[in-house]
Amino acid sequence: MAGERITPGLTGIPDAVDVVVVGLGITGAGVALDAVTRGLTVLAVDAHDLAFGTSRWSSKLVHGGLRYLAQGQLSIAHESAVERGILMDVTAPHLTRPLPMLTPVNDAMPRSRTAMTWAGLHAGDVLRRTARTTTRTLPRPRRLNATEALGLAPSLRADTLRGGLLAWDGQLEDDARLVVTVARTAAAYGAHVRTRARVTGATGASVEVRDELTGATHVVRAGAVVNATGVWAGNLDDQVRLRPSRGTHLVLRRASLPHTRVAVVVPIPETRARFAMVLPQPDGTLYVGLTDEPVTGPIPDVPTPSEAEIDFLLDVVATAFASPPTRADVVGAFAGLRPLLEVTGSGTTADLSRRHAILTSSTGVTTVVGGKLTTYRRMAEDTLDILVSAGRLDAGPCRTASLPLLGAAPPEDLRRCTAPARLVRRFGTDADLVLATARDVSGLTDDELLSPASPNVPVTLAELVFAVTHEGARDVDDLLDRRVRVGLVAADRAVAEPLARRALDLVARRASIRRRNCPCTR
Ligand SMILES: Cc1cc2nc3c(=O)[nH]c(=O)nc-3n(C[C@H](O)[C@H](O)[C@H](O)COP(=O)(O)OP(=O)(O)OC[C@H]3O[C@@H](n4cnc5c(N)ncnc54)[C@H](O)[C@@H]3O)c2cc1C
Repeated sequence: MAGERITPGLTGIPDAVDVVVVGLGITGAGVALDAVTRGLTVLAVDAHDLAFGTSRWSSKLVHGGLRYLAQGQLSIAHESAVERGILMDVTAPHLTRPLPMLTPVNDAMPRSRTAMTWAGLHAGDVLRRTARTTTRTLPRPRRLNATEALGLAPSLRADTLRGGLLAWDGQLEDDARLVVTVARTAAAYGAHVRTRARVTGATGASVEVRDELTGATHVVRAGAVVNATGVWAGNLDDQVRLRPSRGTHLVLRRASLPHTRVAVVVPIPETRARFAMVLPQPDGTLYVGLTDEPVTGPIPDVPTPSEAEIDFLLDVVATAFASPPTRADVVGAFAGLRPLLEVTGSGTTADLSRRHAILTSSTGVTTVVGGKLTTYRRMAEDTLDILVSAGRLDAGPCRTASLPLLGAAPPEDLRRCTAPARLVRRFGTDADLVLATARDVSGLTDDELLSPASPNVPVTLAELVFAVTHEGARDVDDLLDRRVRVGLVAADRAVAEPLARRALDLVARRASIRRRNCPCTR
């Protein structure tokens, strides 16, 4: 592998490539990886940073497609289950883990809804089997009695609890980390991956791209231009019409619902099959999600949750827990916009198809939009297949279904890694590289590089230094909001900020020493 690093700005980019990818959320990063591993030359750019858009505001689940099954969308459900298996078993076992999900059976779950939910979980298990994902990766669903359910989630209301339904899905370590890892893998295979580079105009044969650091513009010729700009896709190609929908999550401390060891799925009252979820995160927080609100008007850079959504989520969760969280327990809240394609005749955004679409407009730009984090690989494969079969690119078959991302290894190998657990969880077998890089750049001891920002904020200097040297992070926001995600809780972000500044300073100082000592500058 070429070992390229992700860098901000456009210095040194080629004048012509096979494929330009616009947007470095999960979709664009996936397209860049698919294209470069088929032997094509690739330039992939983002106007801001990796994972700047929707990809960092997700529920961080690797879905098996149960929801689509409930809507009778069998092919999307199967596709989701297959991609979940590929992520968990082949491409990113280091960044994914099985997540037990408990639906409490209580007064809010009449017998008919319980029976329907149980049937749905069984159908989900059939999907797992047809996708060839083993029970070692995702165990079968099972019924629990009330005592067993309380053992997994002791904060549940005991007085109305009759039992529970336990099923398993996949969970990501972090959504932005998946994007960064896919992008870094693409760069390692030789793709030029650049942040702070905004495409201001595109046709199927070229883009005009502005370096947001210098203001300089460049024209890059290409065999194909892929618009992977998510909810912003219509800005680059006005033939693409989207109807975004906002999804909001709350962030709580684990102590707000003590000892919750599983995700809890709470039925939304007065709906037939809609649920809210309480999702324990590896960093010691809990997310409560998720809303589905149609959005009109201009697309903001960073969407914000509404007060009504926050109240709604707290109200739903209150139905299941003995001492439900209150407004005072909400330490953060975030919202993301689903890039849903407009479909004539559809009612609410919840009814719009979540399958991806690939559209080539009269300008020749190919837009890939919709889908999910879980299905990013298949979206990329389909996009490149269409471009190859249309004769616009000359390339071999897709390789990504059997191509592990950087740091990937089977769980048993990861358990044998001697590097600190947090680094192994976030970088897999690259944890050693992260630490070695930080030592080399800083000259600091492992104690300094690995001590957490505070007892409650597990971020380390080592990973922040690596984010600057290898992952294209340029400022404090890149580091805290898109590399380590501590930005989801404002108070924790403030604690970690000095560490982020130190990492930037260490790398800058090292670069200036290198420049001074380089014979070429003497
Ligand atoms: C609330 C919510 C929860 C979700 N939960 C899950 C989940 O649990 N599991 C799952 O599988 N999926 C989930 N999804 C779906 C998933 O997050 C999205 O489908 C996916 O992240 C979309 O990624 P994208 O790359 O297409 O878009 P984005 O991530 O928005 O990326 C688009 C990028 O394009 C860049 N850009 C825009 N214009 C330009 C330009 N002119 N030049 C250069 N760059 C540009 C932006 O800066 C941005 O980084 C969820 C979605 C939402 C909204």
